[in-house]
Formats: sequence, C-alpha cells, structure tokens
Amino acid sequence: MASAPPPPAAPPAEFAGALKRLHQWAQDDAPEALGRILAETARLLGVARAGLWQWLPGRQGLRCTVAFEQGRVDLDPAIEVPVAMAPAYFRAIEDLMVLAAEDACADPRTRELAEGYLRPLGIGALLDVPICEFGEIVGVLCLEHVGPPRRWTGPEQVFLASLSGILSQRHDRLRMAANEDERRRELLFDAATGLPGRSLFVDRLAQAVAGLHGGEDLAVIALDLERLRSLAHRYGGDFADAVMAEAAARIGQVVPAAHLGRVADDTFALWVVGERVQGLAVRMAGRLQRAIALPMGAPDGDSIEFSTAVGIVPGARGERDADRLLRDALTAAFGAARKGRGRVEVVWPEVREELESALLLEREVRRAADAREFQFHLQPIVSLADGRVMGGEALMRWNREGRPVSPAEFVPRLEESGLIVPVHMALLRELFDWARRHRLREHRPDFRLHVNFSPVQLQSPVLVAELRDTVRAYGVEGLLVCEVTENTLFAAGEDAATTLRYLADMGFPVSLDDFGTGFASLSHLIDLPLAGLKIDRSFCLRADGDPRARAVVAGLLDLARHLDLEVVAEGVETAAQRELLKTLGTELAQGYLFDPALPPEAFAARWLAP
Ligand code: C2E
Ligand code: CA
Ligand code: CA
Repeated sequence: MASAPPPPAAPPAEFAGALKRLHQWAQDDAPEALGRILAETARLLGVARAGLWQWLPGRQGLRCTVAFEQGRVDLDPAIEVPVAMAPAYFRAIEDLMVLAAEDACADPRTRELAEGYLRPLGIGALLDVPICEFGEIVGVLCLEHVGPPRRWTGPEQVFLASLSGILSQRHDRLRMAANEDERRRELLFDAATGLPGRSLFVDRLAQAVAGLHGGEDLAVIALDLERLRSLAHRYGGDFADAVMAEAAARIGQVVPAAHLGRVADDTFALWVVGERVQGLAVRMAGRLQRAIALPMGAPDGDSIEFSTAVGIVPGARGERDADRLLRDALTAAFGAARKGRGRVEVVWPEVREELESALLLEREVRRAADAREFQFHLQPIVSLADGRVMGGEALMRWNREGRPVSPAEFVPRLEESGLIVPVHMALLRELFDWARRHRLREHRPDFRLHVNFSPVQLQSPVLVAELRDTVRAYGVEGLLVCEVTENTLFAAGEDAATTLRYLADMGFPVSLDDFGTGFASLSHLIDLPLAGLKIDRSFCLRADGDPRARAVVAGLLDLARHLDLEVVAEGVETAAQRELLKTLGTELAQGYLFDPALPPEAFAARWLAP
C-alpha cells in the first residue's frame, strides 16, 4: 500500500490536452488501452489507485475489471463489492454525474465502504463517475486517493466527467460492432434449414466457378416452392420454415449439401458440375421436383403437395460473376412460375440480354452505395391550421452522374440486394446528427421525423434493436415516426400486428403509408396498433370535385379521429385542395404546395429558422 504523499495534481490547463490524448487512446479496442488511460488519469489527478468497475450479473454489485495500483496495471483484479455492502453508495452512483467524496470514511454516501474496503486499503478520498452504454449505466470509473482526506477541485471533477463520456462512447462503439458481428453470423446461415443464406451461397458458388477445370462446366438451378408464400400467410412463418427444412432434407439426398443454399424465404439454389452440364441440370431438376412434390403435413392436419418452379442457367464457364448467375437463375424460376405450375425454364443467352439493363442498375446501385451517393432530403409536414411545420418526411435521393434517379427505381434494387439496411442506417445517422445539431428536441419538441422503412428492416429484431440503440446514442428519442406501407406489413411475413406491436414496444410510433392504394380495409385500422396514417395523394385528387369521394374522405377522417390516429394528407398541390382538406378537418398535410423534399440544411433554413 502506498503511504507516501501523492504527487501534486495537474494544473487545469493540462487537462484539455490530456482529454484529447485519452480520447485517442480510447479508440483502441484492446483492454490494454484502458490500462493506459487509468495510469495517465491517476498521474494527472495525483491518486495512487484508479479502477474500472462493471455491474455483476443482475446488478448485484460491482466487479473491478481493470485496475491501476502502485504503478502497475492489472487486467483482472477480480475484486467485487456487493450492493448489500454499501446500498447508499450504489444509490448515489445511479443519481450523480460525479461522486466526489473528500472524506470517504465519513461521507454518508461512501462510509458504508469504510470497514470492508476503504480503511484496509488506506483510502481517504474517492472520485467516481458512471460509465454508460447507450445511456444506461454499466459501470463506474473510480479514483481512490490513498492517504488522508483530500479536496477534489472543480476542474478535476469536470475532467473526470469528460473522461466518463469518452469511456461511454467507447462502450457504445464496441457494442455496435458486436451487434454487427452477430447480425452477420445470422445472415450467413439460415436457421431453419442450416443451409447457407444467399450471400454465403454466392461466395461458395464463386469459388466453384473459379475452380472449374478441364472440360467441366457448371449450371445453377433455382427451385422456388410455389404457393409457399401464400400458405405461410395462412399458417404463419414457422410453417414456411418447417416446409423448407423438410424440402432441404429431401434435396440433400439428391445433391451434396455443400452445393445448396436457401436464397430466399421460399427458394433454394444449387449448382451441378459436369461435362455436359445442361442435360445433367435438367435431369437433376426433374428429380428434385419429384422429391419435393411428395406430400407434407399442414398444421391443420391436411396434406399439401408443393410444386416447384425451376430456373436453370447452364454453362457458367467464362461467367465470373456468381451473383449474376444466381440472379439469372432466380429470374428464370420467376418466369417459370408465371407460366404455370411446376415448370422449368432455362435461361438462354438471348434472354440474358433482357436481364442486362436491370442488372446494370443493380451494379450501379452497389457502386453508389460504396461511394455514399445516397442522401436524405426532407419534405415539410405542416399544420393546416396555422401553416407551422410539424415534421418532415425523409425521402431518399440519388443523383446518378448529375441526374436524379427516382426512388421508385433504385429503392427496390437496394432492397433486393440487401444494401438498403446499411445504406439506410448510415443515412439515419446523418439525419439524427442533423437533428441534434439543430437542437430539434429542445427547440421543437413537437417536431416529428417521418422515415420510410422497407420490409427487410422490420423483419429482423436485431435491426429494430439497433435502431433503438442508435436513437439513444444520438439522444433523439421520441423524434422518429416509422412509415410503412401495408404491402410492407404483409411482406414482413409474420402477422402484421406482431411487427407493429414490436415497434411500438421499442417506442416507435408507426404510420400507415399510402393509405387508400393497397388492399387496406378499415378493419386493419381498428385491429393494428397504429399511431397514424397517411392518406394517399390519389385520395385527395379524387375528393377534389367528386362529392362521393369527398364523403369517403370525410368519413375516413372521422374514423381516424375516433381511433386517435394522426392523419397526414399527402400530395397537396393546390390551394383549393388545402382548403378542402381543412374543411374536412385534416390537421396535417404535405405536398408541393408547401415545398418539395429539400436538402436538410435548406429545410432547416426555410422551415426551422426562429
Ligand atoms: P412515399 O413514401 O409515398 O413518398 C411521397 C412521395 O410523394 C415522394 O416521392 C414525394 O416526393 C412525392 N410528393 C410529395 N409531395 C407531392 C405532391 O404534391 N405531388 C406529387 N405528385 N408528389 C408529391 P419520391 O421522393 O419519388 O419517393 C417515392 C417513394 O419511394 C416513396 O413514396 C417511398 O415509398 C419510397 N422511398 C423514398 N425514400 C425511401 C426510403 O428511405 N426508404 C424506403 N423504404 N422507401 C423510400
Ligand atoms: Ca412515406
Ligand atoms: Ca405515401
């Protein structure tokens, strides 16, 4: 135990420089970085001991995970302090930004620690700050002064609070990286069948193509279980998984599992290698169709026979792009399904030409995503009563070589390729940052940011949890409204109410987009836990002039009011439409009459200026 007087503490001027240095060290993920940070902090504040403590499971106490003591760092000191030993201390760290106990053995918040901890170690004063992860306390940074009581100056306390921020950010970053890893693992393999998912399948296919030799060639086969999607709606998503698992087992008896993948909810893909690969592939497809067609049990006791639409791409030799091969096979299977049950379609070179332009766009979209060419623009949502802006809808924009591409063209490409997930998340971060810079929550607590979500983004609980964490990390809770179309809700597979309840539980209100275009029925409005709805442009257009359509809109608005739904009318282009909607009792509207979607800074200048 150090008994010599501690070295004098650093002057305030040194703290600023030190924070920069510590911030840099904190970018290092290795635990050793924490040791360096503790050692440097102890030196700056002139204390003998510094430690990082983490909650024990169930918050039963704290456990020291890194300690600096007597000039050396210990990466696993394994000291624990149970809550029962010092309840007042544990209450204090939950409530305070900084706990400065100048006479720790006497301070009411820390004196319970005196006999069991402080006195045996000779500690006279404590300076503690909480460490958070996404806003929740996960541990404590604790400076322990060995010797008599001592003062903690204002600059010292501020310094330590800033360091708490730096270490909390490090926690956020590591957590996000861990989430991302977990998501990748989940994406690699399909849980129901144990088969590779799409991206891993493509990787393996690419290796197979590269490894062809001699007279060998390769064909890719896509097998699409017909009617499975609609049956899954009836019996639930588990049913689809069970059918796919059974089908995978049957296919596995015909072809090596290493050549097989589940590339979509209802689709398998595989490849065969041989000398005359085309005939081989067609024969193989027939065998697989027959194997899959054997009856399977349905949850209600019925037996179901699945027909399979097959797409074949023969002769992969010379084609380097495995992703394209798979896409061609899927397109062929899709074409087969449109022609009737249980068809086989082979992609001949001529058909490829047609696919070319769609693929080109897809490739361009990938490049644009890498080059960060996508942006959010914001379109104001205004109150019809007083013209005040009450929110903004984020709409994706892409300028391809200086010319805007419609989201209707590129959003589906982003969705199909799965790129929508990272691209959209990156844009959301920029938007949250924008909201934070303009201090929206403080200046305009009633302002809502409407964001459109694709089915894939709602299917995965991991993604929704990541969204919640990101919102917390940026401190923009309560700002977001999720817009989903009905088609999105039903494409999400699971019963729509579950998805919506899940989002609501996470604190995200959901507004039903394009109301009046899909197969929305009024009963959906009543059954689903919705917060609002957006009346499609076509509704407003029709209401303008046609008295019967007008009665429908009026009735709808009435219903929405009773259900406590917030209604936004979309696509308001003329003053006449605005007045009509106002008479009908619509409170919020959006449309070219007010403004198109603007770059966020322009939006702020025009609509958020005081
Ligand atoms: P949406 O969600 O229904 O967005 C409203 C569309 O109406 C936008 O088209 C907007 O520019 C347009 N609009 C607004 N006011 C008027 C008006 O007064 N008259 C007319 N004629 N049109 C108006 P945009 O930007 O082309 O977006 C089209 C669709 O693309 C969106 O429809 C949305 O479904 C999708 N989209 C856009 N951004 C995203 C996104 O980030 N994620 C997803 N999943 N989809 C997005
Ligand atoms: Ca929308
Ligand atoms: Ca809409």
